[in-house]
Parts: sequence; C-alpha cells; structure tokens
Amino acid sequence: MPKLIIDNREIEVRNGATIVDAAAELAIEIPTMCSLPDVPACTSCMVCVVAVDGRENLVPACATLVAEGMRIDASSDAVKVARRTNLELLLSDHVGDCIAPCQMADPNKANIPAVIRHIAAGDPAAAAGLLTGSLADIDGTKPRRACRRARQDEPVAIDLLLKYVAAHAGDLETASQAPAAHRFSVHIGKLSETELERFMVGISPDPQVIPADPSTGYTPAEAAAEAERCMHCDCRKADNCRLRDYSEAYQAKPAHFRTERREFMQNLEHPDVIYEPGKCICCGLCVRITAQEGEEYALSFVGRGFGVQVAPALDRDVSQALQKAGARCVEACPTGALAMRKNDAAD
Ligand code: SF4
Ligand code: SF4
Repeated sequence: MPKLIIDNREIEVRNGATIVDAAAELAIEIPTMCSLPDVPACTSCMVCVVAVDGRENLVPACATLVAEGMRIDASSDAVKVARRTNLELLLSDHVGDCIAPCQMADPNKANIPAVIRHIAAGDPAAAAGLLTGSLADIDGTKPRRACRRARQDEPVAIDLLLKYVAAHAGDLETASQAPAAHRFSVHIGKLSETELERFMVGISPDPQVIPADPSTGYTPAEAAAEAERCMHCDCRKADNCRLRDYSEAYQAKPAHFRTERREFMQNLEHPDVIYEPGKCICCGLCVRITAQEGEEYALSFVGRGFGVQVAPALDRDVSQALQKAGARCVEACPTGALAMRKNDAAD
C-alpha cells in the first residue's frame, strides 16, 4: 500500500492505483477525457497532467501508477495552465456550435432549437416550459434574424412559432425557465455551400410556411411544418460534453491556436447514432469499446498526422461498426462527436 502526497495531503492507496484514482480518494478532481474506469487509458488528450517531484515533464495522471513517497502537484497554476493549453489544442480544429445561432441571439438565451423540436412534436406546453418570462411578451425577432436557414432560402419563422406557443400553451401565462447563464461555447463560423448542404440532410426543403390566417397565426399543422425546417444547428451533447465543461472550468480560449478548421461533416449511416468527425478529439474510447464489445467492423483510426480520423474498419459504414456498442460509445464519447440522433423532442 504505497503512501504518497497530493497537494500537500497524505494518502495511502492500493497497489496499482493511478494518480487519478488516488486524487479521487482525496476528492481532488483531475479532468480526464480519454480514459474511463472500464476502458484502459491511452493518454491522447493530456488534460489530466500533473507535476511529480523529480520528473522533468508533466505526466498524465490517468496512466501513471502511484509509487511510495511520490509528491504530486495536481492543482497549481502551472498545472492548470498546461491543462488549459491542451484543451485549447483540442479546440483548435473543433468544428461545431455548442449552441445554435438563434439561441445566441435570443436575449434570454432560451433553447430555441429545443423549443422548435417540441413544436414539431406537437407539444407547445413543453416548448413554453423552455422560455423565460411572460409568454405574451416573448419576441422571436432577434433569433429569426440570426437563423442559419436564411443562408439556404428563408429563415425559420421563429417569431411566428413563439407566438404560436404563447397562443397554444394552455393555461401557462408565464414560462417557467430562469434565464440561461452565459456558458462557454464554440462556434462553427461561416459555412461553405457544401457544408450547408450537409446541414440540410433530412430537413424539410419546403419554403417558409405562411399562416393561412395571419390574424390568428399558425395552426398546429402549420407550426409543425415550419418547425420541420429547422436545421438542428445546436450540439446534441451541449449539456454533457466534457470538452465544453473543462474548457469552461479552465477558461480555455477556442481561438488561441485556431488555424484552418476541418470541414463540417455529418454521418447519418446509423439509424440511432449521429457521428460528427469535426467534433472528435481522437480520444480512442470508441475504438477501444468497439473492440471490447467484439464488433466485427470495430472503429479504428485511419489516416495519419492531422488527417487521422475515427472510422469503421474495412470501409464499412457506421451502422456496421456500432451494431452492439452504439449506446456505450455515445455515453463514453467526451464530446458531441458521437451522439444519439433523437432521444426525445428536446434532443
Ligand atoms: S435552423 Fe434552427 S437551430 Fe439553426 S439557427 Fe435556425 S432556428 Fe436555430
Ligand atoms: S468519436 Fe468520440 S469517443 Fe470516438 S475517438 Fe472521437 S471523441 Fe473519442
């Protein structure tokens, strides 16, 4: 049972424990993205680095076993700066929006895309629950102006959709949600024509719906048809993305090392799972999980250098690579690269 010191606190842990395990026993959180308790570490993300007395370089805490007498610095400013730098490197070619342009433009930062999905599902009361303040005063003008769909043809008529919610949300006079706190977000920036086409896959190509009776606004069918025009610009894992959480905690700057970004790609080959390679940090968790699960065409790294990417073996498609391990890979993926296409109306 080795004894060691982490951040000036002594602890005795089992043989074979890693520094992350030992720190957890002292309730010292060390960020990790490429390792999980049941998946061996591969030290690709390097956000878990710590300083160990006597070692010249920082070491990855997820893969470094404790030893008798170790003295570890897991929380100094120098360690935090190194983690922030590593996060900024991961963000340097991250392609995606944490939150959609319409949500960014909304004065209350309401989750407009989720509101729209509830409308599409025929549930205006659930949509109202995501809005803030008096429904009678809700104004979708600014989100409509920011809507990405305008690049394709016409913006989603968010103002009319929110009026529809106010008129059809039942007895709700005041929406319940508190204004959303400002959170760390990355933004994809300007899309090429090809990228825009990829966003449109599976989205209603119809022109903006004009209410048959402008004085009463959308009917439920008209509102649903307009809602189907939304391109789902927001990330499906915005609220459980470890890259976003740690970037926020360590105050990482997404543009610090940014050069040319990768292309936005969207793989919809799997019926339940969406794969967006531009959000992949090559942590390798899905690669190891598909191997553990015995997938016949397990995911693997293909390409070299900056072009390396995760893809199914033997040029198979993602539905063949994730026949058994889809849900587990989605759960393990630390970013929105692998996500469920649809869980409920808000997803
Ligand atoms: S297409 Fe949908 S998610 Fe994208 S900006 Fe417009 S309303 Fe928001
Ligand atoms: S898809 Fe997700 S789990 Fe797989 S390597 Fe990329 S970031 Fe890691």
